[in-house]
Amino acid sequence: MLKIEKLSATVADKPILKGLSLTINAGEVHAIMGPNGAGKSTLGYTLGGRPGYEVTGGSVAFDGQDLLALEPHERAAAGLFLGFQYPVEIPGVSFVQFLREAANAQRKVRGEAPLSGGEFLKLAKEQAALLRMDMDMLKRPVNVGFSGGEKKRAEMVQMGILNPKLAILDETDSGLDIDALRICGEGINSIMRKPDKAVLLITHYQRLLDYVQPDFVHVLAGGRIVKTGGPELALQLEEQGYEAVAA
Ligand code: ADP
Ligand code: MG
Ligand code: MG
Repeated sequence: MLKIEKLSATVADKPILKGLSLTINAGEVHAIMGPNGAGKSTLGYTLGGRPGYEVTGGSVAFDGQDLLALEPHERAAAGLFLGFQYPVEIPGVSFVQFLREAANAQRKVRGEAPLSGGEFLKLAKEQAALLRMDMDMLKRPVNVGFSGGEKKRAEMVQMGILNPKLAILDETDSGLDIDALRICGEGINSIMRKPDKAVLLITHYQRLLDYVQPDFVHVLAGGRIVKTGGPELALQLEEQGYEAVAA
């Protein structure tokens, strides 16, 4: 599904990713852990095509396509979903409006007919229920006044509606209390734990991995994957720290 080969990227002319390689197959959940400033978010943004993140080498194939040749909106329409570490607020636009426009914009790029109002509402209600999110909440402006947990749950509702092939979730666990963590974890599992989908979890902590069990855990340091293991690697990192494990 995703094959990253020797990817190098700069942010503000500063080299951050330095020949990173990673392969993710359909049906797999991968976790990337690493110290602050290692370049984890940079990897997500670079794959998403965020302006300011410049690829200086390497290649990325997504579902058989050259991902790096696609515009950001084309990447999303091709089935790539990015959950951000810091969700944006959009005053004046309700979440349901935003979700419907996002879903239909992607369908348009794929040459599919837009969802009718009724179809969209049914889908939104199903996904909101899955994340225990009140529909009234989704009628409010995007993320404005939402708590950390509500923002993340709303983002998972968005993921459920867009129904991506690959979700890259950057610190979805940050700022979540125990209940929100469990609800988001269950949401990720029920939306994405499917044979034709894959997940890349970017996280500092092992706790989200109690709910969403990874098949592979990688350590990102110095702009590359320096170690790969199974779920036990996350536990070992938490106990011993990055320096001891990945030095
Ligand atoms: P992580 O997510 O692993 O904590 P990031 O990918 O956010 O790390 O950051 C990697 C490095 O890139 C850090 O040294 C950070 O300071 C730097 N960086 C990120 N964004 C910018 C930017 N806009 N301008 C300059 N440096 C940046
Ligand atoms: Mg960070
Ligand atoms: Mg980060």
